[in-house]
Amino acid sequence: MKIKRRAVSLLLATCGGLGVGACRASPGADEVVPGWRWSWEEVERTVNRVRAGRTLQPAAWPNGARVAVLLSFDVDNETVSLRFGEPTVGALSQGQYGARVGLGRVVRLIDRYGIPASFFIPAVSLRLDPRMADVIKQAGHHEFAVHGWIHEMNSSLGAVEERELLVRAIDYLEEVVGERPVGYRAPSWNFSPNTLAILRELGFLYDTSLMADERPYEILADGEATGMVELPVEWILDDAVYFDPLGNRYSNPREVLQVYKDEFDVAYDEGTMFILTMHPHYIGHRSRIVILEALIDYMRAKGDVWFATHRQVAEYVRAQAGLTP
Ligand SMILES: [Zn+2]
Repeated sequence: MKIKRRAVSLLLATCGGLGVGACRASPGADEVVPGWRWSWEEVERTVNRVRAGRTLQPAAWPNGARVAVLLSFDVDNETVSLRFGEPTVGALSQGQYGARVGLGRVVRLIDRYGIPASFFIPAVSLRLDPRMADVIKQAGHHEFAVHGWIHEMNSSLGAVEERELLVRAIDYLEEVVGERPVGYRAPSWNFSPNTLAILRELGFLYDTSLMADERPYEILADGEATGMVELPVEWILDDAVYFDPLGNRYSNPREVLQVYKDEFDVAYDEGTMFILTMHPHYIGHRSRIVILEALIDYMRAKGDVWFATHRQVAEYVRAQAGLTP
């Protein structure tokens, strides 16, 4: 197809730790056909490749809850440094903090409240410190889910390599955890042209990497319903954009807490979902874990909150929507 002539070269150096806002495709100028020269058919075909379909927002949450709260932890640790092949000792040590200190602090906090959470773990993180699995398993209700093999930039991989890494990640998680994961969060929250097909082929129940809504929805592939649940994320509700050490200054955690509270309040009023993405090597620091505790206290005080794993929510909304397994 004409518009696929583009040879996308990612400006890796500007991608930041997790490749957030700064991580944009930077195509060679002579190879890109700009959108204003596309036919309408090309525009439609491009946006329809992976698009939000019908809402899966249920009429009610379990037990009369007003809002579903999904806490997730992306256990990236050293992998974000390793993936580009040029790790520095300093950056690796900042990542290792996640396994040595951050994760334990996070799990102790949520376990004290009995709140289940989902842990999206690059397999290499777990292999570097498999004791993390025991820490997470202790409560017996947390979810282990897939976050790539080594936090690879799946969006820039070919189909064969992307699939091979994903299979390796699933197998390793299954081996260590004792259960096959059903949830996927793309490293750096992007899809390649092949990601959705690979996820479907491998039998994933849900994805949580896309951003077309605040409510759960079904993903369409080329306009066709897939049955794949999307539990959408947003950088607003990610600790990395506020606490990424590649930034020239950290955000004040107390100000970040206010953002999270405001997001939660509207989710509560609208009866939708509040999905928060955190990283043990960011949120696990002393001056930051206090805002997670404050946020949990704030949400609990409001009442009528369903704290659930991503898997629980995906299964619930599927059942409510009449999607068969
Ligand atoms: Zn990540």
